[in-house]
Amino acid sequence: MPLPIVAIIGRPNVGKSTLVNRLAGVQEAIVYDTPGVTRDRTYKPAFWADRDFLVVDTGGLIFDDDTEFLPYIREQAMLALSEASAAIMVVDGQEGPTASDLEIAQWLRQQHSVPVFLAVNKCESPDQGLIQAAQFWELGLGEPYAVSGIHGNGTGELLDELVSHLPPPEAIEEPEEIRVAIVGRPNVGKSSLLNAFVGENRAIVSPVSGTTRDAIDMLVERDDKRYRLIDTAGIRKKKNVDYGPEFFGINRAFKAIRRADVVLLVIDAIDGVTEQDQKLAGRIEEDGRACVVVVNKWDAVDKDSHTIYEYDRTIGSKLYFMEWAKRIYTSAMTGQRVPNILDLVDQAVAEHRRRVSTSVVNEVLEEAVGWHTPPTTRQGRQGRIYYGTQVTARPPTFALFVNDPKLFGESYRRYIEKQFRQNLGFEGSPIRLLWRGKK
Ligand code: GDP
Ligand code: GDP
Repeated sequence: MPLPIVAIIGRPNVGKSTLVNRLAGVQEAIVYDTPGVTRDRTYKPAFWADRDFLVVDTGGLIFDDDTEFLPYIREQAMLALSEASAAIMVVDGQEGPTASDLEIAQWLRQQHSVPVFLAVNKCESPDQGLIQAAQFWELGLGEPYAVSGIHGNGTGELLDELVSHLPPPEAIEEPEEIRVAIVGRPNVGKSSLLNAFVGENRAIVSPVSGTTRDAIDMLVERDDKRYRLIDTAGIRKKKNVDYGPEFFGINRAFKAIRRADVVLLVIDAIDGVTEQDQKLAGRIEEDGRACVVVVNKWDAVDKDSHTIYEYDRTIGSKLYFMEWAKRIYTSAMTGQRVPNILDLVDQAVAEHRRRVSTSVVNEVLEEAVGWHTPPTTRQGRQGRIYYGTQVTARPPTFALFVNDPKLFGESYRRYIEKQFRQNLGFEGSPIRLLWRGKK
């Protein structure tokens, strides 16, 4: 799905590229290679208040007729504007409005195509900034926003206004189906659970074909949500059909995991976690899928008041590498807690898709570093974390910009990851940290 594009426009040296870096929150240029965007411009991904967009610097706009490149520059700006959903015109607050600013503003007003926001840059002092900004009403582009690309002040207000004018996220986003894979060893109760889902949520839609002829997905609706149960043919065995030995094999489960948003890893309460279960869990973590661990046949376990805690501890220790996954103890036979499984699926999927703002990420980092400073080598080099930002979701992935990734060993990385978990949650979803050095 194409992201809305925000074009940054203004004459040279007003601070456009500084502002782009500030809005995108990433210091490195990321060249976006997706269809629909022009190859020779640098698009930077940004998000604010749950909205994703791309920021593109159009290069300095000059309207001086002596300029040899004038037609080319105008064409570039025009092209950038034609694919944009909004534009920010940047001016220099310390310099005040210039003749070029007036020309550019006039040109922008004639475009009529997209909303234009006016950023009065280099306004470091809030009080003076207001006065500096007020001079720019004469550009006729509405309210001037006093900002500082270097320090970041004022950019929040500008972004609030900007995202409220971006086109709404496409309607297909909401009723999007949740792809669920049910995996586990033979006889743990996968098909019994599947039948329970289908029985409980009566609005079952007819089976739809999946990727291969024998992979049949099934759609189940509950409330307003739609779940695609992946490869139900691999779960439901029909009598009198010879499926061959590989049909229920682990490769089939791996394929289902690959296609899923969230995986139900079904474990037999009697047998506990086996090596096969660990293999499946490892693959779920590696593929970055959300997961709910379903400990089934709970009815068949002799229980006293401690049993569930002991079980939980044992299972947790065998699945230590996916501590983040929630566990639920069910019986497909009696129906105990079966309806709660989809609630956990919903939660895990929401976490898997969740994004947190750059400021929150950096608060967590600052606090973590405050408690426990990064290691220093014997040569006296110390690891430094400059900055962190969430670069993507599904699974939530964070880039940490540091002086040199080699200075951060396994134990410090684990410490930071733990701090992210403790402060940001993401229960039900794996997370990823990318340690990026300075170029
Ligand atoms: P561009 O040519 O419009 O992309 O401008 P740059 O981002 O390269 O910035 C031009 C100059 O203005 C550089 O020297 C920046 O350090 C400076 N600059 C950019 N933003 C600010 C700001 O918010 N405050 C101040 N004081 N200087 C800034
Ligand atoms: P699958 O191979 O993982 O699809 O497992 P099935 O759903 O076919 O179940 C295998 C066997 O376990 C069947 O005999 C089921 O009746 C039984 N079973 C499934 N779920 C439960 C449960 O919650 N409790 C008990 N006691 N038996 C179950």
